[in-house]
Amino acid sequence: MSNPSERKPHAVLIPFPVQGHINPLFRLAKLLHLRGFHITFVHTEYNYKRLLNSRALKALHVLPDFQFQTIPDGLPLTHDVANVTQDIVSLGKSVRENFLQPFRELLAKLNDSAIAGLIPPVTGLVSDFSLTFTIQAAQELALPLLLFSPSSATCFVSIMNLRALSDKGLIPLKDESYLTNGYLDTKVDWIPGLKNFRLKDLLDFIRTTNPNNFMLNNLIDMADNVPKASAIVINTSDELESEALKALSSMLPSVYPIGPFPSFLNQSPQSHLESSGSNLWKEDTECLEWLKSKESNSVVYVNFGSITIMTPEQLLEFAWGLANSKRPFLWIIRPDLVIGGSMILSSEFVNEISNRGLIASWCPQEQVLNHPSIGGFLTHCGWNSTIESICAGVPMLCWPFFADQPTNCRSICSEWGIGIEIDTKVKRKEVEKNVNELMLGEKGKEMRQKVMQLKKKVEEETRSGGLSYMNLDKVISEVLVKQT
Ligand code: UDP
Repeated sequence: MSNPSERKPHAVLIPFPVQGHINPLFRLAKLLHLRGFHITFVHTEYNYKRLLNSRALKALHVLPDFQFQTIPDGLPLTHDVANVTQDIVSLGKSVRENFLQPFRELLAKLNDSAIAGLIPPVTGLVSDFSLTFTIQAAQELALPLLLFSPSSATCFVSIMNLRALSDKGLIPLKDESYLTNGYLDTKVDWIPGLKNFRLKDLLDFIRTTNPNNFMLNNLIDMADNVPKASAIVINTSDELESEALKALSSMLPSVYPIGPFPSFLNQSPQSHLESSGSNLWKEDTECLEWLKSKESNSVVYVNFGSITIMTPEQLLEFAWGLANSKRPFLWIIRPDLVIGGSMILSSEFVNEISNRGLIASWCPQEQVLNHPSIGGFLTHCGWNSTIESICAGVPMLCWPFFADQPTNCRSICSEWGIGIEIDTKVKRKEVEKNVNELMLGEKGKEMRQKVMQLKKKVEEETRSGGLSYMNLDKVISEVLVKQT
């Protein structure tokens, strides 16, 4: 850093420390790096160790202008290794209580390095929208702060309206019977941007009777703080969510849809970062070889993301539904997917699927979705999985589990018409029928055409001159590196 004229803008990015929040922010870090930023990406110590074990980081360690820093996650060291990134309530509490001070210290350390001429001075912060402590850190140092939403704009609208729902007495629920007595069908379409929405389409954190529920109150607090950020950036696009984006823009001063990142990165020039990822689990790449042996559009890809868990009974219904469909499938079963632990698939099942089905524990999902053999995706509807599927042009079967997944499922099935929902109480017959509809039926064909159209539209938005592309440029020049 001897020549100040070579100084790059320097962004510090910090995700909420779970897989579904790390991945998209890491992609944003790559996009900023491609636009000439020096990057500091902040992980928890625990996750950083996992990334090293999974060998996700590869090339990044040799890049002087893309660096990692760590802070402790504040959780007890004795915690169960398999479950720590899944326990979002403990993590959420720890973030609130323990992250501000080490983050301040980290920023002070970066400042010392900048004074010593080792790195460029920090010019802006980019933080997950749930890490509201970064607002205080940014204010203390008079730095601009971008709050990043890894969830959809529609989900963001519902978060911004939780206080109104509470003020109207709609949440929390009066008692447990409200979960099953039809109350969740109550329309909430008085909320701008949520046309035809019902309570059951909102974040599932509203399904509580506890007025002190941590997740609900944390989100309400987050919504109260969001307007203090310099701007909000969302991993979505106008083509996907124009109504919700319009509603957000009328509530908040600066909202920029700058995604979807998978499409953005597919069209970006190759860089050193290409081979580096952010997966906390080690990827099984043999499944890519297996896919090569399958016909085009023939394989059902099954993956429920990083947090979903299911009962042994649910696993068996999916297993036999897939086997009975007679379609080839690739199923990712995380070691901790099934409540109670161990795999319970019988030798009868294994014989039945023979070389038609492949089971692995974690995969490079984007590569899998973009493989020509993949014809459909049975998903839990995490927002990343949803947009990765759209960007790969793959229609979906939806089994939402929690958080924003019911909202995403509604967008997939009702708004965009590119998916079919599977009942929470999953049954093998229903899985078999829907898998065949998805892969061979008329509806499947229609959904495939629609998702291909959507894929093309978002590609236009993330191409030079497209709306998301221009928004990213704008947010960089007007917020992140704004000269005062
Ligand atoms: N993922 C992956 N391989 C897997 C499972 C998941 O690469 O076997 C990635 C996936 O591509 C996505 C993220 O992990 O980027 C999961 O995020 P999502 O929002 O879909 O779901 P969550 O895990 O947060 O429920």
